Amino acid sequence: MTAGQRRRAVVTGGAGFVGSHLCERLLERGVDVVCVDNFATGTPDNVRHLAGRPGFELVKADVTHPLWVTGRVDLVFHLASAASPVDYLRLPVETLEAGSLGTRNALRLAHAHDARLVLASTSEVYGDPLEYPQRESYWGNVNPVGPRSVYDEAKRYAEALTMAHHRARGADIAIARIFNCYGPRMRPHDGRAVPTFISQALAGEPITVAGDGLQTRSICYVDDTVRGLVALAESGETGPINIGSGEELSMIRLAELVRSLTGSASEIVFVGRPEDDPRFRRPDTTLAAELLGWRPLVPMDEGLRRTIAWFQRRRAEHGDRGAA
Ligand code: NAD
Repeated sequence: MTAGQRRRAVVTGGAGFVGSHLCERLLERGVDVVCVDNFATGTPDNVRHLAGRPGFELVKADVTHPLWVTGRVDLVFHLASAASPVDYLRLPVETLEAGSLGTRNALRLAHAHDARLVLASTSEVYGDPLEYPQRESYWGNVNPVGPRSVYDEAKRYAEALTMAHHRARGADIAIARIFNCYGPRMRPHDGRAVPTFISQALAGEPITVAGDGLQTRSICYVDDTVRGLVALAESGETGPINIGSGEELSMIRLAELVRSLTGSASEIVFVGRPEDDPRFRRPDTTLAAELLGWRPLVPMDEGLRRTIAWFQRRRAEHGDRGAA
């Protein structure tokens, strides 16, 4: 890059939850951003505050169709995909196509510009894991024909395609395996535990915990996740590298924590557990620490407080139930 020229990144899925925070962070770091989204599960509202900023463009496009971007592109972050179970069960074919055709098109875009591509993969590639905690060397335990397979297998295919482009065609790529992350701009009713519990607690409704609530997740505040994605992009590493918090907790504990931080009197009730829902989830983040110097910095209490404050503001703006 010539001195004085700004770098430019394409963020597919940039109007989604993680993508919008990534766009923000890139702009803060002096990287121009082309945010590409079809608003299937995201919304222009998530990036409205960036609209006037120099170096930011929002393009409505579907990644399952070829992507053309004029001007320079140094980095492609491929995040476009439904990500919450409610969304990918509603959009099964679209989810598989975002992982397959979408990843192909993102790789082609990166190739056309000689750019580095970062694939947003997921801990779901480990399925219902038989290894604990999950290291990147673990191959996973996924039901290829279960309802969740549309997401898990799309991401496994996306990883395979990305590695094939790297090995056979010399593509400059990196794969991030993102573990559950949370924060402002999650949708209250997207089915993921943190926004569900917070919106129920704020509404004084029962907090619905799936199964016996003893299943665990490791949740990472979105600022930390995004910092990990940028660190990976700026490294020479290929990965896959786990990006997630090692702080694991049961869903019943999370429900109790949310209830206490919101000061809610909601009761906690138990509902049926979704098919193939993994029992345990905790990343081994040794590689991220050693290769990227990355570790999560925001403690869970603090991250949850910030998220609750955002949901409270939303409820004040949009009425009692917040936005859908
Ligand atoms: P999200 O649903 O909020 O964002 C996804 C975005 O992609 C949305 O804005 C949606 O409109 C867009 N999109 C979907 N299909 C598209 C298509 N065909 N063309 C263009 N845009 C399309 O989800 P998120 O939580 O922000 O997840 C973002 C990425 O990170 C996903 O790839 C997901 O698999 C990955 N990830 C997220 C988590 C998490 O905890 N949030 C965990 C692991 C992996």
